[in-house]
Amino acid sequence: MVHVGIGYDVHALAEGRKLILGGVEIPHPKGLDGHSDADVLMHAICDAVLGALGEADIGHFFPNTDPRWKGAPSRIFLNEAARLVGFREGKIINVDATVIAQAPKIFPHVHQMKINIAEALELNIQRIGIKATTNEHLGFLGREEGIAAMAVASVDLP
Ligand code: MG
Repeated sequence: MVHVGIGYDVHALAEGRKLILGGVEIPHPKGLDGHSDADVLMHAICDAVLGALGEADIGHFFPNTDPRWKGAPSRIFLNEAARLVGFREGKIINVDATVIAQAPKIFPHVHQMKINIAEALELNIQRIGIKATTNEHLGFLGREEGIAAMAVASVDLP
């Protein structure tokens, strides 16, 4: 049976941080602030996969109070979500995500993001969708105060 999950995440942009999106370090004057590498795209996808399993959210598995995850690359969270799918004898069918960022341009990095996410989830790259949109200069995303991502995942579970 196919189960669908949804994920959403947002992180603030801050000076002195690297901007990591989908495991790609993107040159930008600011980076996303957070306990881990603050990869908002991988976090949203992780929650989508966990949601398809009916599991709790990423913060439950990887609390931002746990020093183990300080500065951690977010691919380890995707690894763990994929491991939970395997543990349930399931299979991820596809994931699809949208990054909402006024800047920088996301499209030039999408292919490498897909490679990184495919590797972390042990999934064929053709099963991963990554899109991007600006927020038309509206609100906190439009003012470049942060970057958000939303994602869905479908998982075949016995
Ligand atoms: Mg997050």
